[in-house]
Amino acid sequence: MARHRAKGQLVDVLARVDLDRKKAVAAVVAAGALAGAGFAQAMATVTPVDRIVPVAATKDLAAVMTGQQQQQPAGIRTIHSVDTGGETRKLLQAEQIQVQFTVREALKSAEGAYVKRQEAEKAEQARVKAEEEAKRPQCVRPAQGTFTSGFGARWGTSHMGVDIANAIGTPIVAAMDGTVVEAGPASGFGLWVRIQHEDGTITVYGHMNTIDVPQGAKVKAGQQIATIGNRGQSTGPHLHFEVWAGGSEKINPVGWLAARGVSLQ
Ligand SMILES: [Zn+2]
Repeated sequence: MARHRAKGQLVDVLARVDLDRKKAVAAVVAAGALAGAGFAQAMATVTPVDRIVPVAATKDLAAVMTGQQQQQPAGIRTIHSVDTGGETRKLLQAEQIQVQFTVREALKSAEGAYVKRQEAEKAEQARVKAEEEAKRPQCVRPAQGTFTSGFGARWGTSHMGVDIANAIGTPIVAAMDGTVVEAGPASGFGLWVRIQHEDGTITVYGHMNTIDVPQGAKVKAGQQIATIGNRGQSTGPHLHFEVWAGGSEKINPVGWLAARGVSLQ
């Protein structure tokens, strides 16, 4: 009777061992998939079922396995607690910690590489921008077209600027970097735009058809600010262009532009 019970227990234990082993293999496979290189190592930790019966197995079980029988005092029942998966679990836990560490390190490393790449890209963008800035002209011709009238006496009066004739709608651009200090109607000019530059010089653009920048805008040399028109005292579509040295003294734009490498001829 006792022997029969013991046999039943052994079958139960072996069934548990097998179940634990299946679970263990599944868990190791899952961990191994994450760990990559750690997979083979993890698999090596799975003990064959015949070796998994722990040292902690009771004397009863050991007795059954060797075909012997252990006498038990009447009224005392032994409860077998066989933690067959214990060692595997410990190893798996260690493996999982290693996997987590490896994944964390990999993420950290990838993140570091990403940040470095971002920084390199930013530096490259800044370098390209600085290069473009250095190549950018300081001063440009305010409009394409025919130089039709110079600075000075004309028709018994003084012509305080130069005229560049072209079709209505032709772009007018800022001659240099600066700030739009005025943009709107002006007597004789129809419309005008006045741009103040860094050294205090003001350039004036008149008779335009449209104004494309608001007062207060920062503009770059070559940036479109208006289009050629025929407004005000004008005898045909053209740009009237003036240069006010120090912000007030009207000087010959031809010389001012020539000193900055720009020819109107
Ligand atoms: Zn003019």
